[in-house]
Amino acid sequence: MPIIKKLNSTVIDQIAAGEVVERPASVVKEMVENAIDAGATEIEVWIEDGGIRSIEVIDNGCGISKDQLHLSVESHATSKLGKSEDLEAIASLGFRGEALASIAAVSRFSITSWPKEQNRAASLKVTFGKKGDVLDAAGAYGTHIKVEDIFAELPARRKFLKKPGTEASHAISWAERLALAHIGIGFKFYSNKKMVFQCAASDSVDQRCAVFFGEKVARDMVFLKKKMPTISLEAKIGPPETARRNAKHVHLYLNGRWVRDARLLRAVREGVREFIPHQFYPVLFLSLEVPPSSVDVNVHPQKSEVRFREEGLVFGSIVRLLRKTLSEASWATRTAGSIGQEMKSNAVNTMGQPTFISQQQVLHSDSAKPITSFEDTLGTQNFLAVRNTFLFREVEGGVEIIDQHALHERVNLEELRKEIKEGDILLQPLLVPSLVELSRAEVL
Ligand code: ADP
Ligand code: MG
Repeated sequence: MPIIKKLNSTVIDQIAAGEVVERPASVVKEMVENAIDAGATEIEVWIEDGGIRSIEVIDNGCGISKDQLHLSVESHATSKLGKSEDLEAIASLGFRGEALASIAAVSRFSITSWPKEQNRAASLKVTFGKKGDVLDAAGAYGTHIKVEDIFAELPARRKFLKKPGTEASHAISWAERLALAHIGIGFKFYSNKKMVFQCAASDSVDQRCAVFFGEKVARDMVFLKKKMPTISLEAKIGPPETARRNAKHVHLYLNGRWVRDARLLRAVREGVREFIPHQFYPVLFLSLEVPPSSVDVNVHPQKSEVRFREEGLVFGSIVRLLRKTLSEASWATRTAGSIGQEMKSNAVNTMGQPTFISQQQVLHSDSAKPITSFEDTLGTQNFLAVRNTFLFREVEGGVEIIDQHALHERVNLEELRKEIKEGDILLQPLLVPSLVELSRAEVL
């Protein structure tokens, strides 16, 4: 007969770690969030081999007293939540008291902390869930955590780790997300002892946008702001030609917390629909502040999804603000002619992605069906040509508009694609190198 027994606490923590610690990047996220919650003004992250070998986070925050150090790695132990009513209005990034326990259960973990009120630092080591003693230690004010050999004793988890370069780029992305939202904190990030990025504490988001999106994009970004009684919105959005096929550069924050919420993303797409091709996402930093009690961040263990009490108001405000700002932005009011010129010279960037040119193409062509010639698209029907650029024709339920120049570029693009597929492409280095700005995570 099977025997039912209680699991021991190490196994419980290792199972719970599955929810919190997916990969080294989750460790970076949790530890940097703890440093932010601790009021740090300087945070350093050091990773080796994408964090698989080691991750260190060093902060100058409030620290943990020697007599509390052992509690910091206990599961469900937190200084951020006292009673159930507190769940109604969470203001800190953490609150579950699970992260350090989970991380310490699946790695060689050490924490050294020195609160200013104490006359020296103390440290504690936990090896795959087995706790050592709290000892006096040398150190600096604040907290220094080192996590080594993540999942080394859990082969089933370890085999899901990707190459160090991939893990590093996930870790960098998390650090970027947190650094973008906390501009008052200075950040330094090192990978294999080389600096990946650094940003000084600042009072404007511009400097952070320049570090993470590139200086040119940051310069062209427009700022939007709206304050209403129960919601305030602040955002920076890049011009249409910097739009991407994925949402990697859409950074949405709710009360300082990075969120990836499908419905919020939909509101963003709805807001930019008339300005950016529908399969593309803008470069966007959008920060929403709502009263903590009007939002539930308790939905997902990694806390990337959210629930709003007044969903309609939040989504409606995002859509309206984006639309209004975009329609007023200087780059949105450029004439069709000048955009056409730009499209001609910009048809394909060096990453092989169509740029803003492609707005009309995407809107009016079925991307599953390659366009190989003008005739394919135009058929034999009659068109009305306007300003030598746009072709209009009546279709069922509306009017179809085709930009002739864009169509021409699309035909060229399809030809290039065909040549690439058939391995028959003629290559020629550029006479003048073309500069493409990428974020740090994209470089890796
Ligand atoms: P949570 O952040 O949800 O409270 P964690 O497991 O991440 O849970 O951390 C447990 C506790 O350890 C925190 O509540 C906090 O008191 C303390 N702690 C963790 N990291 C730090 C840090 N870098 N500085 C100061 N205190 C910290
Ligand atoms: Mg935490």
